[in-house]
Amino acid sequence: MSAYPAPLERLIARLASLPGLGRKSAARVAMYLLRAPDEVGRDLARAMVEVKEKIRFCSVCHNFADQEPCRLCSDPDRRDDVLCVVETPGDVLALESAGVFDGRYHVLQGVLSPLDGIGPEDLQIAGLMRRLDSVREVILATSPTAEGRATAGYLADLLAGKDVAVTRLAIGLPLGSDLKFADAGTLGAALTDRRRV
Ligand SMILES: [Zn+2]
Repeated sequence: MSAYPAPLERLIARLASLPGLGRKSAARVAMYLLRAPDEVGRDLARAMVEVKEKIRFCSVCHNFADQEPCRLCSDPDRRDDVLCVVETPGDVLALESAGVFDGRYHVLQGVLSPLDGIGPEDLQIAGLMRRLDSVREVILATSPTAEGRATAGYLADLLAGKDVAVTRLAIGLPLGSDLKFADAGTLGAALTDRRRV
């Protein structure tokens, strides 16, 4: 039986189920919330509810969206003929804040990872294949990690039979690094010098 009163135990158990938080850290957060002014807990709860109610994934690119389709998909000033395929919404943010790309995005929502049981059907690949009509070039901008490279290789094979040029991000991105931690200059160079697959 838990030594904590039931509501506190429930909070700790919920927090401990979050990624990266073990039971010890969960208990620390719960204790902090217990001692903090009432509005701290209320604001946190409100922010969690709001994010679940208001943030959706765009049905076209699968990025975070507060409208359907998202602002990037509906922006008339972006090019439709170049599609940049990334792993996560964080990668879109990195490329957008670097200001190096003016085409459309497609977010896979992960990478192939057989060890974690993540296969092609778990990623947004079917949607990608349906978007190729007006596309002239697909840039495979997955991270240069083992999984990111394997995912890009898989997609390159899938796209090989289609009427599109397939490119990869070039030099500048160290092997094993995560795209979203690259600085703007590195991202810009990698995109400019992208290579035909
Ligand atoms: Zn979108």
